Amino acid sequence: MKICVVGGGLSGLVSALNLAGTDQVDLFERRPIAGGCLGSYRIGDYWIEEYYHHCFAGDARLLALFDTLQVADQLEWLRGSTGYYVDGIIHPLTSPTEILRYPHLTLTEKARLGLLTLRSRRFDVAALDAITAKEFILDTLGPGIYSSFFEPLLKSKFGDRRDEVSAAWLISRIAIRSDRGAGGERLGYLRGGFQYLIARLCEEVERQGARVMLDSPVREIRRDGDGWLVDGKAYDAVISTLPPQVTAGIAGIDIAPVPYQGAACMTLALDRDVTDGIYWLNMKDAAPYGAVVSHTNFAPLAWYGEHIVYLASYFAGRFPEDYGQRMLADFCRRFSVSEEEIHWHRLAVDPYAGPVYTTGLGARLPAYEEHGLFLAGMFSPPNYPERSMNGSVIAGEEVAKRVLARYPDG
Ligand SMILES: Cc1cc2nc3c(=O)[nH]c(=O)nc-3n(C[C@H](O)[C@H](O)[C@H](O)COP(=O)(O)OP(=O)(O)OC[C@H]3O[C@@H](n4cnc5c(N)ncnc54)[C@H](O)[C@@H]3O)c2cc1C
Repeated sequence: MKICVVGGGLSGLVSALNLAGTDQVDLFERRPIAGGCLGSYRIGDYWIEEYYHHCFAGDARLLALFDTLQVADQLEWLRGSTGYYVDGIIHPLTSPTEILRYPHLTLTEKARLGLLTLRSRRFDVAALDAITAKEFILDTLGPGIYSSFFEPLLKSKFGDRRDEVSAAWLISRIAIRSDRGAGGERLGYLRGGFQYLIARLCEEVERQGARVMLDSPVREIRRDGDGWLVDGKAYDAVISTLPPQVTAGIAGIDIAPVPYQGAACMTLALDRDVTDGIYWLNMKDAAPYGAVVSHTNFAPLAWYGEHIVYLASYFAGRFPEDYGQRMLADFCRRFSVSEEEIHWHRLAVDPYAGPVYTTGLGARLPAYEEHGLFLAGMFSPPNYPERSMNGSVIAGEEVAKRVLARYPDG
């Protein structure tokens, strides 16, 4: 059987890995590099992700993939500390003492927040899909905690669409992040970066006979008898890992759209730390980025020889051309950094960086097969109510199983 996989991110590569031994697989990736959202820059002698990444102890399928590809020996469990930037001041918020000292919540509000965190794993996430995160927090914790704590987080993550986001998303985020000791969350990272995983995936997929074609955007998918023509080439089955509405456009079929947002992420390097040792600094003050993620306050500085910082932001609609400059200028002014101190900077922009988890989305996700076309990606059920590397690994595995079940004789 000839199978075409569209997209060389985790979902596409994992589906190709699961089919390559039994079928003839061609994978098409639009960009000159594989990895999709998990793509990396090569800087001197190291790799660094275009978008900050870490994994969690509960990411069972991702961790199993590390074993399969023999990259597990590169996995390090590191501590990720957090903080909040309010009125020009950095507030560490990792240890119980730091949380107690935080001046922008009352003691009662902190206690309520702590209780919600403890209860977060016990909620029925499906039932929370119908309620907005805003309604849920206002009802359970009150307006003070909403405006001083959750609204800035929702705003930095979903911008103007924050009021439409479901409580299912919020509670699952709190639950996943509730596993923290006094020194911070235990988060996984690969020595050598997640590029190590992507490179091993490509190597293994190709070793099993599949072709990974970079710089190869797919422009058209058409029905051809029982099979498909992908840019004129015949295949028995096609797996698309692109957003449903993009697949619908190039395949000329009707698939319900999933609301998406874009991400713009500035990565830069300098000689010193500017976030007081904090890994993840959320911005409450208005800035052209919602968080400052100091990668080298998480992964050891010695791996890179310079401090690496991400300025993280999400956007809807058209991305403003001068946005990168605005991010950089704001960062330099706010953190008293001169432009000469910045060794290098790169801006990554992806208009389809992840779904916006609006209420009711759980019931509207596309199936793994629509009109005979196979679909897997950030919009698949394992990536609800938050997309992740683990979710995309499962989606890739699941869609491969469905292809094999549909064509049992190969
Ligand atoms: C800012 C950010 C931070 C994140 N942080 C984390 C984290 O810390 N932990 C975690 O677990 N997850 C994180 N994620 C999520 C994780 O990166 C994704 O869930 C996962 O990588 C998505 O993989 P995918 O293959 O499903 O989609 P994608 O990575 O989007 O892959 C789709 C691929 O299709 C390609 N493509 C598009 N159009 C075409 C075309 N016409 N023809 C051919 N190819 C095409 C794209 O170039 C891309 O490579 C983060 C994501 C972002 C954006």
